[in-house]
Amino acid sequence: MLCLNVKQVSMPKRVLITGAAGFVGSHLCDKFINEGCHVIGMDNLITGDLKNIEHLFALENFEFYHHDVSKFVHVAGSLDYIMHFASPASPIDYLKIPIQTLKVGSLGTHNLLGLAKEKGARILIASTSEVYGDPKVHPQAETYYGNVNTIGPRGVYDEAKRFQESITMAYHRFHGLETRIARIFNTYGPRMRLNDGRVIPAFIGQALRGENLTVFGDGLQTRSFCYIDDQVEGLYSLLMSDYTDPVNIGNPEEITILDFAEEIIKLTNSDQKIIFKPLPTDDPLQRKPDITVAKRELSWSPKVSREDGMQKTYAYFKGLSEEELYRSEH
Ligand code: NAD
Ligand code: UDP
Repeated sequence: MLCLNVKQVSMPKRVLITGAAGFVGSHLCDKFINEGCHVIGMDNLITGDLKNIEHLFALENFEFYHHDVSKFVHVAGSLDYIMHFASPASPIDYLKIPIQTLKVGSLGTHNLLGLAKEKGARILIASTSEVYGDPKVHPQAETYYGNVNTIGPRGVYDEAKRFQESITMAYHRFHGLETRIARIFNTYGPRMRLNDGRVIPAFIGQALRGENLTVFGDGLQTRSFCYIDDQVEGLYSLLMSDYTDPVNIGNPEEITILDFAEEIIKLTNSDQKIIFKPLPTDDPLQRKPDITVAKRELSWSPKVSREDGMQKTYAYFKGLSEEELYRSEH
């Protein structure tokens, strides 16, 4: 798939990526640059880091806007695609900044849908497996409506994302906007923030610092982890497809958090112990995507095994400086 404008064969497609300095957003910037697009990254750096995209700054086909997308968004020139990825994404981040999380999912999404309408651009929004809440159906298919505690601490993220899906479908139905909705399941890889509290950076950081690994609850809760390269390919395929209903993008290989902690102790060749801490409120007990729709509609399925993905992720974290390893606050 070439990233060229058919009407003006020599003009590259122009893509706005919000959340560009974050983990997923920065990998999307790389992907679209590699596809020959002109990429406009936008981020307010609330949880992201310019380090993730500094390698792109010298490129002519990359621009960066330091901007909060919950405020009016203006971009000069035409746009072909918008990838809306701005949002705190880890439980400790969105518990720390709950109002901004609600605003970026609601007001931010509204602003970007308006921009897409003005520019005649196709927009893909980053939804999440959290729309299923603590699921009563397993594995989770897109047809499941979910089980979310609206007033619980995670509700700020889950409900913002559910609203985001609703307003996106409303723009699609009412304004005929070209929209795509990705329900992203736990994704990992290089450029995650070491102290973002998500389980992979948490465990690897603990192993590297010689600390015990903190398993929350009894560790029997499950997650299914998707490597970032697979995720990016899934998102790109969805954007290029004609499919407008939500699509789960994730890796169905499920593991308990306790088994995962043991895998990480082996991977890091450390002799750390596992210690147990209380399970956070509303922490989903099981999560695994049903990816039948992605396979059928996008001909996509994940390729990277957890073993290979974790080797690459560990290599990235091992390469961080002492200062980064011991930095406690973002
Ligand atoms: P991240 O925290 O690394 O990146 C999010 C980026 O958005 C950061 O750079 C942050 O500074 C920026 N941002 C936040 N609010 C903003 C605002 N108001 N204006 C401009 N920029 C803002 O998180 P991530 O893991 O890369 O997640 C990216 C997107 O993917 C999020 O929308 C998240 O909900 C979604 N998602 C991620 C996962 C995952 O496993 N990584 C799973 C489900 C959904
Ligand atoms: N978790 C854990 N120890 C940690 C961090 C997380 O046991 O130090 C657990 C957490 O309770 C959850 C799982 O790991 O059950 C995945 O957590 P993460 O924050 O990565 O993602 P999410 O809960 O959003 O899926």
